[in-house]
Amino acid sequence: MNQNNITNNYRVSIIGSGPAGFYAADHLFKNKEYNFSIDMYDRLPTPFGLVRSGVAPDHQKIKSVTRVFDKIAQNEGFRFFGNIEFGKDLFLEDIKKYYHIIIFATGAQTVRKMNIPGEELNGSHTASEFVAWYNGHPDYKDRTFDLDKESAAIIGVGNVAVDVARILCRTKDELSLTDIAEYALEKLEKSNVKRVYMIGRRGPAQAAFTNPELKELGNLEDADLITLKNETELDNLTREFVENSTDKTLTRKIEILQDHNENYSGTKNKKLFIRFLLSPVEIIGDENNNITKIKLCKNELYKSDDGSLRSKQTDQFEELDVGLVFRSIGYHGVALSDIPFNDNWGVISNDKGKIIDENNNFLPGHYVTGWVKRGPTGVIGTNKADSGETVKSIIDDITNYIVNKIQDTDIKNIEKLINQRKKDYLSYEEWLKVDKIETEKGAEKGKPRVKFTEIEEIIKAGKS
Ligand code: NAP
Repeated sequence: MNQNNITNNYRVSIIGSGPAGFYAADHLFKNKEYNFSIDMYDRLPTPFGLVRSGVAPDHQKIKSVTRVFDKIAQNEGFRFFGNIEFGKDLFLEDIKKYYHIIIFATGAQTVRKMNIPGEELNGSHTASEFVAWYNGHPDYKDRTFDLDKESAAIIGVGNVAVDVARILCRTKDELSLTDIAEYALEKLEKSNVKRVYMIGRRGPAQAAFTNPELKELGNLEDADLITLKNETELDNLTREFVENSTDKTLTRKIEILQDHNENYSGTKNKKLFIRFLLSPVEIIGDENNNITKIKLCKNELYKSDDGSLRSKQTDQFEELDVGLVFRSIGYHGVALSDIPFNDNWGVISNDKGKIIDENNNFLPGHYVTGWVKRGPTGVIGTNKADSGETVKSIIDDITNYIVNKIQDTDIKNIEKLINQRKKDYLSYEEWLKVDKIETEKGAEKGKPRVKFTEIEEIIKAGKS
């Protein structure tokens, strides 16, 4: 037991209410040795991070994980403070006063740059802003995407690129029964985009998307999936790589891609190309700075020192006529004020979830979990094990009497402080009211929900 805590009760603040934050809360509540009371903060009034604003609206099954989070939130001692931003409404110094344990679970909120000419032209976007826009994220609802253009390129062949491609290619009927933001549905219904190119810098065996997501692209109502024979044939290095790989899904991935070779005879209105071994080198615009083309360099693969197959550019180029470019080359974490950050990796510096400073010293009681801990990889469930590791570090530290030394033992004071800083925050009960209104509105239209997309209307609904 710590001299700062003679009752084995520990106060925890979790910054960020996405999957990693909720799974960390779950692991703590399940611990039988110590008692935890947990305050979870989110800069948005609504919880669930990328489950609400990242997972594609046509993937409702994945979104149903929120029922698990609802259960976690029912634990005694759990409180949610939505619409409270760390570094703006609440600072590290405040939090350190009240909580023995501080866990950062803020995810990876931006996308890496390609650093090529033309990246700033009109029509050049990050995949993450498009994803947040169609998912009704309040900060992105006013973004505009010129869907009058006929062709779009998506750089990257991960699952986010697949989501963007699918949403661009879906029909009105396919989208109308989802919880896509109503403004986005209206725009996408009128979209003129007919050709979508996903661009991978390496070959089909290195594509980051997973097979179920790839298969879905081959089964779109009004879009034909097309791959090129010469780009999906395996070179000798890849053949050797596939033969030696223990990943059973790899051969199937290549088969699915080859099944769509030169599939030009399809009669669907939209064409979705997955291209390989191409790197964007320039985005080209007209006199009004609107994108007209993307210049791509053909790549070949080579075996790097660590045995992985990487791409290198050749002297051959290709230009594609496109009016839109979406950069989907992986998310990147954003630094938080007063917290050690590794900018190259986009993560909070840590060892098994324990935050470390520039001299590799642990900051007692400070932890991290999720994408801002390990980088932007894995599916929602991956965060369960990740948060488990962080919570193990926390329990080990508590056992060794290491926690943050709090200054104020009266839990009511934190609420008083928040009230002074910002009145219009939402509790979990208030969020559940928002949830009820959204789902009821959705039921009237045969959809899972109709989302509020303005902070003010969310607050109003929660306080109603
Ligand atoms: P990702 O899986 O890391 O894919 C990033 C893609 O960008 C890769 O194809 C990568 O190619 C490419 N890339 C990186 N730098 C590049 C550059 N400079 N030029 C050209 N291409 C470049 O990232 P993500 O798609 O953002 O997904 C993040 C995580 O969320 C993943 O774990 C994903 O599976 C998960 N997710 C899952 C689902 C789902 O389960 N349905 C949906 C969305 C996201 P290289 O491989 O050559 O580096």
